[in-house]
Amino acid sequence: MELQFLTRCLYGTNDFENVENTGSISFPIYQTATFKHPGVGQSTGFDYSRLQNPTRQHLEEILASLENAKKSFAFSSGMAAITALMEIFEPGDELIADADLYGGSIRLFDNVSNKNGIKFTRINLSKEDPREYITKKTKAIYIETPTNPMMNVIDIQEMARIAKENDLLLIVDNTFLSPYFQNPIDLGADIVVHSGTKFLGGHNDTLAGFVVTSNEEIIEKMSFIIKTVGSGLAPFDSWLIIRGIKTLALRMEKAQENAFKIVKFLQNNKKVKKVYYPGIEGHKGYEIMKKQARGFGSMISFEVESSELAKTILKSTKLIPFAESLGGTETLLTYPTTQTHADVPEDIRIANGITDSVLRLSVGIEDVGDLIKDLDQAFRAYELDDKAVCLQGA
Ligand SMILES: *Cc1c(COP(=O)(O)O)cnc(C)c1O
Repeated sequence: MELQFLTRCLYGTNDFENVENTGSISFPIYQTATFKHPGVGQSTGFDYSRLQNPTRQHLEEILASLENAKKSFAFSSGMAAITALMEIFEPGDELIADADLYGGSIRLFDNVSNKNGIKFTRINLSKEDPREYITKKTKAIYIETPTNPMMNVIDIQEMARIAKENDLLLIVDNTFLSPYFQNPIDLGADIVVHSGTKFLGGHNDTLAGFVVTSNEEIIEKMSFIIKTVGSGLAPFDSWLIIRGIKTLALRMEKAQENAFKIVKFLQNNKKVKKVYYPGIEGHKGYEIMKKQARGFGSMISFEVESSELAKTILKSTKLIPFAESLGGTETLLTYPTTQTHADVPEDIRIANGITDSVLRLSVGIEDVGDLIKDLDQAFRAYELDDKAVCLQGA
């Protein structure tokens, strides 16, 4: 029976053959480091949990199925997944990476991958043509779409076409939309990466990461890498992500519905200079998003009139925590300048539009009226501050 997306969030490929059938509805946590061999040269299919563990395997099957891919590999964090993926490259290889990436990815590329001899050319791929930067050594194009935090949208099909023509791999970090809203492999990408910490886990309680692909050569390389470097996801954490994915669709829908209402609130606020959300019809990437995704997600960035106002908002929200991360049930307010993008050189950060007046909201599944009330009082806290200053001046 071919299962639809919502059902696959619960059952994955519905393959319970590898586990004892006790009738357990929840997939068991195989909290074991090693497995007994039936005899010399014989295996149950599981030997040692660094190589594979039934709970991790079940999770990997679910995610591969949601991304319409042959295989996924679950790692201990998104960064562990991207770090492991970089091992498919050799010293001397070059990658073309989008300029506006998750700060941790930029830090990895500049400080670790670079040291290992991999070179990165960073350009704004929502505007510039990568073909001008391809050399004989270029092996891959690496993108996120929408980008973090500026919400630039990149045409995945167009990038895939350029990648194929030039014999490059297209790697897409699909964290912001999750497979519920976007499937890059269907659009021609070769590899998808995820921070499973975000929408997939969805509860701000577990770190995880994924590499997903249908390319047999990469599957073989990644199988070798995950067992060799040892950063595969632990059984209990795998189970938490399995549980999180059960409600992926419901959470994504509710969070997006809330996001649209918060975008309206921000657009009507005179102290907000610009709202970055790809679901706004005037947004540069709106038409591409409509073509390649099934939704716009629940990440919003916005620029307020001054950095003082941004800082006042950050310390004045009562319900919404000022915290790093995204994609969870709880709405979080982030300050990219000092948090997610603190390690990105200032000139690049500013060139990407991440000024110290930009705030990022990851909208959760709370009552949206409560969220708007909280934001509204945080904006007003600034007016009160303003008045206090005026009175002092007088
Ligand atoms: C958070 C994040 C990562 C890193 O994932 P971790 O699970 O925090 O290691 C990578 N890419 C994007 C887009 C992210 O938001």
